[in-house]
Amino acid sequence: MKYDYLIVGSGLFGSIFAYEMTKKGKKCLVIEKRNHIGGNVYTENTENINVHKYGAHIFHTNNKEVWQYINQFAEFNRYTNSPVANYNGELYNLPFNMNTFYQMWGVKTPDEAKAKIEEQKAEYSIEEPKNLEEQAISLIGKDIYEKLIKGYTEKQWGRECKELPAFIIKRLPVRYTFDNNYFNDLYQGIPIGGYTKIIEKMLEGIEVKLNTDFFDDRQKWKNIADKIIFTGMIDQYFDYCYGELEYRGLNFEFETLDIENYQGNAVINYTDAETPYTRIIEHKHFESSQSPKTIITREYPKTWKKGEEAYYPMNDEKNSELFKKYQELAENEDNVIFGGRLGMYQYFDMWQVIDEALKLVKSIE
Ligand code: FAD
Ligand code: UDP
Repeated sequence: MKYDYLIVGSGLFGSIFAYEMTKKGKKCLVIEKRNHIGGNVYTENTENINVHKYGAHIFHTNNKEVWQYINQFAEFNRYTNSPVANYNGELYNLPFNMNTFYQMWGVKTPDEAKAKIEEQKAEYSIEEPKNLEEQAISLIGKDIYEKLIKGYTEKQWGRECKELPAFIIKRLPVRYTFDNNYFNDLYQGIPIGGYTKIIEKMLEGIEVKLNTDFFDDRQKWKNIADKIIFTGMIDQYFDYCYGELEYRGLNFEFETLDIENYQGNAVINYTDAETPYTRIIEHKHFESSQSPKTIITREYPKTWKKGEEAYYPMNDEKNSELFKKYQELAENEDNVIFGGRLGMYQYFDMWQVIDEALKLVKSIE
């Protein structure tokens, strides 16, 4: 065999694995079907602005080991994500906190806010929330559910909130303080200079073939290395033999504007049902980039079809059951390890992908 490892996919998972194993003296080859490295964290510098080509990527974690690990590849700024929601022209701070409650109801103290939420919850008498709608109403009441959650969530997932699992919303904080920080994590920031530089550092000196799809010549790639690390779609690897896993797709619409500041914030969510996009990203605000122009991206969620980029795994019961069947096949597949968001069919944040990749490396030692 020519290589110890063939790594399919140059996203965060594949690149960390390649970096660590190369350090241990293993010979790695990375193949990537896109025309660039980095997977979904890829950024591109245009007009002196690092553009997040696959949607806003904000690094956040509570895991000190992961934070220290990623900091060896870049310096991070002190960016704190504080998105604003636009509901039919009314603006609200996110996540749900005292600013939101004041804007929604005019309440000024935590006790007033709690009383208002309790009053709204009481109308529904939900004991154990069974779906996203019930979860949302029991957390923050009907008004916030209807103005800031329902429209956004139904656009994002293409299903009614009543049909969605409650866990999707559980990751959003509800706070009785005037704190607009979207995340509770101890560490947060954006790598100064963009994410692509991180991946470039990881893959320095490692052979990478771009525009190369594993499935175009499966036999050739299987015979080139002792082991394969596969970070593409696990159902595709097994020829969809048990049926297709579902994903949510996205269209990104980019626009360069001849003005300095379009919306005054990196992320503005459009939470009504009618606006076809979920959010507008204004990239320069991630790094306070100096430019006479600005670049924005509108994010349109869409039904995913075979052959398109799969952005979000649909981790509901039906798909999780189907995934388990593929996982059993994966366990019996000699010399192939499935990793990352698509290989493990999990909507991982970046820190979790790093954690998983490092765990895999350790398990091989
Ligand atoms: P990927 O980045 O998907 O990399 C897989 C790579 O494999 C891709 O480059 C793909 O082209 C390649 N590939 C697939 N199949 C083949 C094949 N057959 N042959 C060759 N190559 C193949 N995380 C956060 O922590 N914070 C955020 O703010 C955040 N925002 C996000 C916003 C959006 C819109 C999305 C979609 C994700 C976001 N994430 C965020 C999650 C983050 O993108 C992932 O955790 C991380 O990028 C996953 O890395 P990965 O290597 O597992 O997968
Ligand atoms: N969400 C919402 N309104 C918002 C932002 C988020 O209802 O303004 C819900 C929505 O269901 C979304 C989930 O919260 O899928 C998680 O949001 P997050 O911002 O973490 O999603 P991501 O950035 O991963 O798309």
